[in-house]
Parts: sequence; structure tokens; C-alpha cells
Amino acid sequence: MTTPAPGTSRAPRVAHTRHELAQARAELSDGHVAVVMTMGALHEGHATLIRRARERAAHVVVTIFLNPLQFGAGEDLSRYPRTVDDDLAICSREGVDLVFLPTPDVMYPDGDPGVRVSAGPLGAVLEGQSRPGHFDGVLTVVGKLLHLTRADSAYYGQKDAQQLLLIRRMARDLDFPVQIVSVPTVREPDGLAMSSRNTYLTTSDRQVALCLSKALYAGADAASEGPSAIRRAAREVLVREPLALVDYLVLVHPSTLEDVPEWYRGEALLAVAGRVGTTRLIDNLPVAVGPGGGAREIFSGTGDVTGGGA
Ligand code: AMP
Repeated sequence: MTTPAPGTSRAPRVAHTRHELAQARAELSDGHVAVVMTMGALHEGHATLIRRARERAAHVVVTIFLNPLQFGAGEDLSRYPRTVDDDLAICSREGVDLVFLPTPDVMYPDGDPGVRVSAGPLGAVLEGQSRPGHFDGVLTVVGKLLHLTRADSAYYGQKDAQQLLLIRRMARDLDFPVQIVSVPTVREPDGLAMSSRNTYLTTSDRQVALCLSKALYAGADAASEGPSAIRRAAREVLVREPLALVDYLVLVHPSTLEDVPEWYRGEALLAVAGRVGTTRLIDNLPVAVGPGGGAREIFSGTGDVTGGGA
């Protein structure tokens, strides 16, 4: 099985069970296998991850699984968009070799797993504070999918910066034999970060939601003046939009997620989360703090791919 040239779409093989996945995976034995893990409702952000993976790997596997373990009570699991036919069409267009599309019963045959991966202290802050247990659920399913797909590399979006950091830590701390690659956040032309959850937004919600990315870019524009100027500039944008209920706005160190002190110069993560209407949205921007600083696509020194725009 080889990956077709771009533009020559061919339906990927679809595996629903572990057995079907193992069989199809065995046929991808010649060359590097990359995996892109998704919860479905694919958009241009996901397609970009697939393209980056295709550029480097002989074979690309996409997983589509709405993981109940990472949703808390009262979160949006039941209304999360399910668009399998469209998702498969995108996988086809992007030349994906194999799609793993399991049900919760296939992933968790004994029900909720008693043994889980613990995200530790980095999983308890920011998103983890607002969504207790979320990252344990994420890392547990990521670990299982890495084992099941036996991927050589796995591609994740900078859009979910804390998730990306924790997956990197899990791979390192638990010796997963996989290369973790990050891809810059793909945005709508007006700056809104693409997300499957954007489909929940009404037209007026969407206008309100723009304040999140605007705040990040305003903060980045103040990067040469230091951390408090960055935070102030971002906050000024958010306070002008009272319909966005901000959960947090932080400027943190990219690997410890601790607030950076005023003297800090170097790379930092400017991250925001908030509720617009019924929708909780997150966004972030890597920022170089100090003279000549500003927004960056991705953190330097990660060996990752840049140019994530569609
Ligand atoms: P999800 O389906 O939301 O779990 O996302 C699956 C993968 O796509 C994760 O690695 C996300 O970080 C990534 N992703 C989602 N939205 C974007 C985006 N706008 N730009 C880049 N990557 C994204």
C-alpha cells in the first residue's frame, strides 16, 4: 500500500475493530507510519496535520474516536458534531491510507478502564483546572492509540498546546517509541482558530469569539515591552467584549506552564480560554518575549514543522 500523489483521491481502508486495524497495519510494514488522532468533524486544521504527516511519512493513519473518557459530566459529548461521511471524504482527498474508526466498546471492552495514565501536575492547571480528569482521559486514549497503530510518528496541533505538551511528556517519561510532531494552529482568514466546536457558534457568537485571537495578537504586538505589557494588551481587548466570559488569560513558560516573571525574556505561551454563548473555546499563541519579539508559529528547538497555514 503506498500513498497516492496529492489530488489523486482514493478511499482509505477503514478499520472498525482491533483485528481489522492489526491486519491493515501489518500491510503498512514498509516505511514510516504517521498517525493523526482526531475526534472527527474534520476541518482544515485536521487536514493540515494530515498533509504535514504525508510530507514526511510513507503511510498515514487517521484515528476518528470521540473519547468519552476525556469529557466531564455536563460537557458537550452528546452534542459533539458527528460527520463521519464528510470526514472520510476529507481523508480520501488527503490520501490517508488507513482510518481507524472504533466505537467506545472497541476501545474500552471492559468499560471505563481502571488503570489510566496520570497527567500529573501539568494536567491539573489551565484546561485541567477547568476540566478535572480531562488530560488523564486524553493521555489514556493517546497511549492506547499509539500502541494499537504502532505509529513511528504522531502529529498534533499547537491549537491544543497543553495537550501537546502533556503528550510529549508522556512519550518521554514513559518511553513511548514515537516521534511527537506539532503543527501550527490553522486559523480562519479573520483569525479565529479552527475548531470542530466552532459549529456551535451562532453568527453573533462568532463575532464575539474573535476577541480571543485578537487579544492574543494584541498581546504579541506588545512582546518587546515584556510580560506585564503583553498581559495588559491582551486583557484590554477582552474587557471590551463582555459577552466573552473569560476563564483564563495567561502568559506562561511553554514547558512548566507557570506564569513567567516580569524579567523573563524568551519564548512563552500566551493562552486564553472562555465561554461564548454555550461554547467553551481555547486559543493560544507562542510569543517571543523581549526586543524584536512577537508572535511565533511554533516554539523553536522542537524540530517541528512550520507553515501550518492551509
Ligand atoms: P480534535 O479532533 O479536536 O481532538 O483535534 C485533533 C487534532 O487536530 C489535535 O492534535 C488538535 O490539536 C488538532 N487541531 C485541531 N484544530 C486545529 C487547528 N485549528 N490547527 C491545527 N491543529 C488543530
